[in-house]
Amino acid sequence: MIDIGQGDSILIEAPEANVLIDAGENGKGDEVLGYLKAHGISTLDIVIGTHAHSDHIGGLDDVIRGVGVKKVILPEMAEESVPTTKTYTSLLTAILEKGLKITTAKVGDTYNLGDGAALQIVGPNGVFTDLNNTSVVCRLTYGENSFLFTGDCEDKAETAILQRKGITVSADVLKVGHHGSDTSTSDPFLEAVGPEIALISVGTGNTYSHPVPSTLEKLEKRGIEIYRTDLSGSVVVASDGKKLTVTTEK
Ligand SMILES: [Zn+2]
Repeated sequence: MIDIGQGDSILIEAPEANVLIDAGENGKGDEVLGYLKAHGISTLDIVIGTHAHSDHIGGLDDVIRGVGVKKVILPEMAEESVPTTKTYTSLLTAILEKGLKITTAKVGDTYNLGDGAALQIVGPNGVFTDLNNTSVVCRLTYGENSFLFTGDCEDKAETAILQRKGITVSADVLKVGHHGSDTSTSDPFLEAVGPEIALISVGTGNTYSHPVPSTLEKLEKRGIEIYRTDLSGSVVVASDGKKLTVTTEK
């Protein structure tokens, strides 16, 4: 979980593939590119823009221009919700310029990341009008470990995922939805995920008051370890397929 202030940017370094989920606000693309460079990454096999809000896709245009990209996954949106913002059109322009196609996130689609690591799309289950609920939700599995990345998916979309037959959301690590807002991490969803570690991507002193105390209490009550980018900087959760090791920037 790369610290890019208020927003999300998550890098998955799998055995044979690199995946980037979001790239923070407009102007944060260079920071994300700097992080990739520092980790010796010049090609992203998959780039996921979870949903069309600027704190997630704002920096993606610069990232797509700055490194090799093989696949871009975006969510389906209700026609009336497709944004006309400069942020969104800039992303589409960068994708076109690179000669890439957009792959629409489809529940159940699974991407092989090498050595048994796999990334499965688990949401959105349905077409939503509220952009947060269009968030691509995906589950990474590697050996006995699993991670769930939720974008800004809110309780309505969480419920829809739980109703989907054949889809599992259980995970050791949960990237908490919508920066720890009270509109996400509903009790049934948290119960189904059952994480040991919660990741929250938030900017210091953000104007949204993320994360909210009720979400933090909910996680603490269950004995879940919480890592936040505003307090710890970038957070790395490493898996050897059996156990997880967390290191923080600060
Ligand atoms: Zn957000």
